[in-house]
Amino acid sequence: MEAKVLCKEAVDMIKNAGGEAFRLCFQCGLCTASCPWNNVRTFMPHKIITQSKFGLVDRGVEDWWLCTTCNMCFSRCPRGVSTIDIMVALRRILVEEGRVPITLRDALEAVFKQGNPWGRARNKRSEWAAGLGIRDVTQGDKADMLLYVGCAPSYDPRVQKVSKALVNIFSKAGIDVGILGNEETCCGNEVRRMGEKGLFEMLVEHNLELFHKYSINHIVTISPHCYNALKNEYQDNKIEVKHYTQFLAELVDTGKLAFSNHFEKVVTYHDPCYLGRHNGVYDEPRRILKRIPGLKLVEMLDYRENSLCCGGGGGRMWVETAKEERFSDLRVNQAVEVGAKVLVTSCPFCMLNLEDSLLTMDKGDELEIKDISEIVQEVTEK
Ligand code: SF4
Ligand code: SF4
Repeated sequence: MEAKVLCKEAVDMIKNAGGEAFRLCFQCGLCTASCPWNNVRTFMPHKIITQSKFGLVDRGVEDWWLCTTCNMCFSRCPRGVSTIDIMVALRRILVEEGRVPITLRDALEAVFKQGNPWGRARNKRSEWAAGLGIRDVTQGDKADMLLYVGCAPSYDPRVQKVSKALVNIFSKAGIDVGILGNEETCCGNEVRRMGEKGLFEMLVEHNLELFHKYSINHIVTISPHCYNALKNEYQDNKIEVKHYTQFLAELVDTGKLAFSNHFEKVVTYHDPCYLGRHNGVYDEPRRILKRIPGLKLVEMLDYRENSLCCGGGGGRMWVETAKEERFSDLRVNQAVEVGAKVLVTSCPFCMLNLEDSLLTMDKGDELEIKDISEIVQEVTEK
């Protein structure tokens, strides 16, 4: 076990790194009771808060890296303590000391070098869009709205289908949209939550420079994580940022997008943490689904504010989680239990984790995983 620090200096380090919220905590334990980790193993955020309060920082434990930043604890805390701020503050200290799990260190280095956490080549970022006819504003094209694609939707073959579905939908609805091509870089949402504040600030500066250079005023994101960062953490009030479900719901409401085909299946919707609990977007995804002819929407045991995290936030996409500890396995079971044939979501990380669970649980005959955009594409095809 690593040495512990029990001193005022450690308390100040956490406070200075943004974790001063621990002072409000009165140790009721509700955060621990509501944390999804306790469905699969023991994890005690309230204990970490006490340790932080007294400067008892054990730098050697893996617990600092468990938090998925799902925000369930904050939503339940009677004193408004943001446990996430404390976790991220602790991670910042560990990052500064170079005590980062190797897979997270690799992901951070990959963002620095290639602009994405998987280390894929920067100059291949927009390959997915070849032949789709979408405008590239960095090549002199003009567009009313920017589709901020994000890393997983640019590089991951499964999530690329979502990017392509959205381009097709925009094209059918006559929406003038462009992308930043290979100049787009990671939004930094997870980088910040892994405690790499300096890198996050570099990414913000880079992306804001691009938005200004190409006169971007309206952005639609594919990922709720990009939506959260660009909307809440980029500090540019002139740029309007929407998640694609908000944008599609508006198109449906105003009659600009109509559904011509039926989707005769029982569907349940998984609320992504960064769309739901972090940003309060619960109704728009459901509004789109409810308008689709033939689709029957049912709710799982945990939904809306109580949605069960998929396990992929806060950098956990780049940490191996033991099979018996995957929240996404529990979610797949919840979907099957309510009789759903399709588990639909609106987040690339949720999609990848749920797809992985479906495969490893061998439940592909019982359930499909889809993104909302993929169903919308199906019902708007002639
Ligand atoms: S729920 Fe809030 S007040 Fe209660 S232990 Fe957790 S952080 Fe402290
Ligand atoms: S944000 Fe989620 S994972 Fe992190 S401590 Fe709170 S409830 Fe647990």
